This record gives sequence, C-alpha cells and structure tokens, in this order.
Amino acid sequence: MNEEVMQLKTDLHRLTVELIGNCKYCSLISSNVEYKTPIYCTKFTGPIHPTCVNVTTCLSCQEYKGS
Ligand code: SF4
Repeated sequence: MNEEVMQLKTDLHRLTVELIGNCKYCSLISSNVEYKTPIYCTKFTGPIHPTCVNVTTCLSCQEYKGS
C-alpha cells in the first residue's frame, strides 16, 4: 500500500483513540487501521454485545464529550 495512505490511516486511528477512547460507552477500539467500524460502543446494545461503529457515528452522537 502507498506509504502516505498508510500514514494517514495510522494518524486517523491515533486521533480516534484520543478523541473517543475516553467515552464511557467505548469498551474497545480495534488496532486494525483497515477496520471500517473500529469502535466498540456499549451504549445501544450493552457491554455483552457492543455495537461496532465508526468515527462519524461518534461525532454525531457526541457522548464522548460528556465523559
Ligand atoms: S457512539 Fe457515542 S456512546 Fe458510542 S462510543 Fe461513540 S461517542 Fe461513545
């Protein structure tokens, strides 16, 4: 893969962890930068069956801001 694209994906992943990682409903963020829905959210389906969401979902949800 193009090295610059890979770098961008890595940067986006790091920003995702920094921004969303503190959300009280976020149980895990996949370290696979190719994964389109890397955020495991427990808000809607509970901790046993987290929903896999992407950054766009979190940005519109905004729950990460309050925790
Ligand atoms: S979707 Fe909302 S509640 Fe779920 S992890 Fe993202 S910001 Fe948190």
